[in-house]
Amino acid sequence: MRHALEAGWKILNAGGRAIDAVEAAIVSLEDDPTFDAGIGSHLNRDGRVQLDAILMDGATLKAGSVAAVERVRNPIRLARRVLERSDHMMLVGPGAEKFAAENGIPLSGPEDLIIDRERTAWRRCLEDSHAAEHHLGHESGTVGAVAFDIHGYLFAGTSTGGTCCKFSGRVGDSPLIGCGCYADAEAGGVSCTGHGEGIMKIVMAKMATDLLGAPPGSRRTSRSKFRDPAPPQNYAQFVADACVRKLAHRAHTTGGLILLDRDGHPAAAFNTTRMAYGFVEPKGAFCIAP
Ligand code: ASP
Repeated sequence: MRHALEAGWKILNAGGRAIDAVEAAIVSLEDDPTFDAGIGSHLNRDGRVQLDAILMDGATLKAGSVAAVERVRNPIRLARRVLERSDHMMLVGPGAEKFAAENGIPLSGPEDLIIDRERTAWRRCLEDSHAAEHHLGHESGTVGAVAFDIHGYLFAGTSTGGTCCKFSGRVGDSPLIGCGCYADAEAGGVSCTGHGEGIMKIVMAKMATDLLGAPPGSRRTSRSKFRDPAPPQNYAQFVADACVRKLAHRAHTTGGLILLDRDGHPAAAFNTTRMAYGFVEPKGAFCIAP
């Protein structure tokens, strides 16, 4: 977490752009085999990595996303290229890799992203049956970042290897706009992790952003001159908690999210055993969850 925060903060503290900070933080997490993103990702049922990523611009609501890519070491870089150089929002599989090659992103061999820990876990699942214990109890997971810069720009991004032993071609919430990620400068930016099939059901990132954009008391109710009650004091945290509660209640599953509201207040919530996260305060103090 510290490396990721440093990578992003170095850019923001020097007056750099949120898009660069989010990309740098996520690249550092993709390059760390601890996480299920980039190198060290879970293998799918066929023993291959298939990676998904998204980057979203809160000013324009434009996103770039890629899914099921096998030969891109840092899919967040490719998502950025889609955002900046394509008329499309999402590219998948061989088409996304072709776009990578045509846009200066080197292609690696699919084996280059596989590490022994994941190959062993995959073999155990084949010999036995798929089980969380084979995958360190699912402790490593999707990565994401949200950043505001001093110019007022807000970006959010998410990158993942998806769920272990997934069917080839399965795509989860992570690269889907509104599900695994959303950013709207008028509301806030969000990145999610957890059980993709559940997160997609409640469109969790968009749900969080919509709540952030309309705190109680911000609008007059239609029938009266009275305002709604004032929002809870830490409204960003209230929103994060509400989303995870909804995920548990309506999708009966687990996950988490990190977010920044439009004023830069951070929050995080999860209903898994753990979720590693951190943020940098405006004056530069690093806060990392224990
Ligand atoms: N959300 C990811 C997916 O379903 C997995 C994760 O966050 O660990 O693909």
